[in-house]
Amino acid sequence: MLSGTQHTTHIDTDYEIVIGLEVHSQLLTKSKMFCSCSTDYANDAPNTHVCPVCMGMPGVLPVINQQAVAYTIMTALALNCSIPEFSKFDRKNYSYPDLMKGYQISQYDIPLSRDGYLTVEHDGQAREIGITRVHLEEDTARLLHHEGYSLVDINRAGTPLMEIVSEPDMRSPEEARLYMQKLREILVYLGVSSGRMEEGSLRCDANISIRPRGQQTLGVKTEIKNMNSFRSVERALEYEAQRQIEMARAGKTIHQETRGWVETRGITVPQRSKEQAHDYRYFPEPDLPPLIISRAWVEELRSKLPELPDARRARYSTEFGLSAQDANVMTEDKALGDYFEQVMAASEVSDRKARAKAVSNWLLSEVVQPIILLSSPVRLLQRPWRICWICWIKSGSLVNKPKKCWMKLLPRAKCLKLLLRGRASSLPSVIKVNLSALSRK
Ligand SMILES: [Zn+2]
Repeated sequence: MLSGTQHTTHIDTDYEIVIGLEVHSQLLTKSKMFCSCSTDYANDAPNTHVCPVCMGMPGVLPVINQQAVAYTIMTALALNCSIPEFSKFDRKNYSYPDLMKGYQISQYDIPLSRDGYLTVEHDGQAREIGITRVHLEEDTARLLHHEGYSLVDINRAGTPLMEIVSEPDMRSPEEARLYMQKLREILVYLGVSSGRMEEGSLRCDANISIRPRGQQTLGVKTEIKNMNSFRSVERALEYEAQRQIEMARAGKTIHQETRGWVETRGITVPQRSKEQAHDYRYFPEPDLPPLIISRAWVEELRSKLPELPDARRARYSTEFGLSAQDANVMTEDKALGDYFEQVMAASEVSDRKARAKAVSNWLLSEVVQPIILLSSPVRLLQRPWRICWICWIKSGSLVNKPKKCWMKLLPRAKCLKLLLRGRASSLPSVIKVNLSALSRK
C-alpha cells in the first residue's frame, strides 16, 4: 500500500496520466445570482443574507443577475472561447441538505461559451490546454458539521458560481497545478474572482485516469475533491496517479468514483460512486427566459477586457527590460505588479530600465522575501506595500533606507494587524499609524 507521505514526482513512464480540471469560482458581484441579497456575507452571522428566493420557498421567481452573465462572458473571451447567440439555464435535480430548492439552477447542453484554450508554459514549452466550456450556476448553502448534528448557513446559497471545465489535456500533476495557477491569475486580473482557494471562493475538482502509453482510449477516471491550495492539487494528483498505477500493475480494477483528498494524511479516500449525468434529470429551467446574447454586447465586453497577465509579462520585458523571471514574479501577484508600476510612474529618471531593475530587485528582496518568511499569503499583506511606499517617500531614496524602515516596522505586530484588518486603509491613516508606531520606539 501507499503511505500518505510518499511523493512521486517521477511517475512511472509505462503509463500516461490524463487529467482534466473542473474549476468553480464565486463571482465578485454585489448581489446573488437570482435575488437581490448581498454576497458580502463573509464576516456576518449565519442566515442573515437570505430571502424567500435563495431559501428556496415555493412560489418565488428568480431573476438573472446580468453582471454575473457579463463576468462569465468576459472570462470565456479571455480563455479564447466562442460565445453562442443563444444560451439557457437548466435544472439539475438532486437532493442534499445544502441545496435549498432540491435542485440547482445550472447550464447543461447550451452553456454561455465553449471551445477555448489556455496556454501553459511547462519545461520551457508552451502547451495549449483545451477549455470545454465556461458556464454559470448558483452556489449551495454551507453545512457546518458538529458532533452528532449539522447546522446549515444559507448565506452562501445562490451566490453566482462560474464553472470552467477543461479538456482532459493535462499530462502530469505539475501541469495541472500550472494550469490552475494560470487560470487563477486570469480571473484575478479580470476582477471577476477573489481567487482565494483557501477560503473556498475558488475550488478545483480533478478528473484523473491512466492508460498504457500509446493507447488512445481513455482509462477509467476518478474524481478528486477537497483540494484547497495549488500544492494540494498537485499532491493529490500525484498520490492518485500512483495509486491507480499500482492498482493496474496488480491487475486490480479501477472503479469510477469520487474520492476526497485528506490533506493531513496525504491520501485520497473513496467518497461515493460517481453519478451519471442522467441521474440529475436535467431539464430547461421553466422560471427563467432563455438568454439571447447580442453580438454588440459581446464586442463591448471584449473591448473592456483589461490587460491580461501574459500581455503584462511581455510588456514588462519590452518596456522595462525585466528578465523573464523578474517579469514573471512582478506579474504573478497583480497587487505587486500594480505597486511596481506606481513606483515606476513616480520615478523621474532617464534610464528607466536601470531603475526598473533596481525597483524590482528591491521589491523582491525587501518586500516579497519578508512576506514569504512570515509565511503569509502575499494578498494578506497588500496594504504594507504602502508602508514601503511611505518609507520610500520619507527616505527620498530607493535603496538601503527603505530596508531599514521596513525591518523596523516588521516586528510591530499591532501596526501590521491594523493594516491587515483594513482599519487603516487610506494613505493618510497609514502614515498616521506608521508615524505613531515609529515615535513610540
Ligand atoms: Zn436571496
